Amino acid sequence: TRTSRPQRILKAVQRKATVGDPQSVITAIDHFCRHREWAMNVGDEKGSILDSVVSEVSPVTVLELGTYCGYSTVRIARLLPPGACVITLEFNPDYAAIARQVIKWSGLEDKVQLVEGASGDWIPWMKEHFGVQAFDLVFLDHWKERYLPDTKLLEECGLIQKGTVLLADNVICPGTPDYLEYVRNSPRYNSHYYRSHLEYTKAEDGLEKSVFLGY
Ligand code: SAM
Ligand code: MG
Repeated sequence: TRTSRPQRILKAVQRKATVGDPQSVITAIDHFCRHREWAMNVGDEKGSILDSVVSEVSPVTVLELGTYCGYSTVRIARLLPPGACVITLEFNPDYAAIARQVIKWSGLEDKVQLVEGASGDWIPWMKEHFGVQAFDLVFLDHWKERYLPDTKLLEECGLIQKGTVLLADNVICPGTPDYLEYVRNSPRYNSHYYRSHLEYTKAEDGLEKSVFLGY
């Protein structure tokens, strides 16, 4: 039987990357996806914007919505200060199984909590289940029509506080018009667009960074 794309991405990691070296895992995935098979990782170009936001925020608790193969999880986790962690949500069990192995290969499993399930089901349980007060950084990269409802759910659950940074991928391609309209027009957010390109292509895409200013 034919392997899946995530399985082939994992194979590329196992062939090309060094255990315990997150940068080599990132490089192996980017190389495979640029030259062999496109995949929906944030990718190297937008990834460097993600890196600078993570470094600037220096978060203790990060929430990632949409793990896929764990590419962006590894990017984020490798930059976290000691004691910090990223909780990443993925509702496809096959993708979650691959991501677990990619994260393990990177040696970052102590900084990552991979949660299998749908964002809308898990967000209300974050405080109780993980003892989180609020998130310092939220990376939104799951299905695009969920960005807005999940942001409102995070607000209702008290998981967004003054200074929380939301970073949303693919705001142009495939696009998240209702979310963009919300963060750009709400007086509670200071929002900024980072122009870039869709992963591994020349098509315009970008990240929207929105800082919550408080109630
Ligand atoms: N962040 C990843 C990266 O850059 O390497 C890519 C994530 S991919 C674009 C989106 C993922 O979100 C898919 O694996 C999909 O199964 C998952 N997903 C979509 N909607 C979700 C939801 N509501 N809850 C949990 N996972 C979801
Ligand atoms: Mg994306």
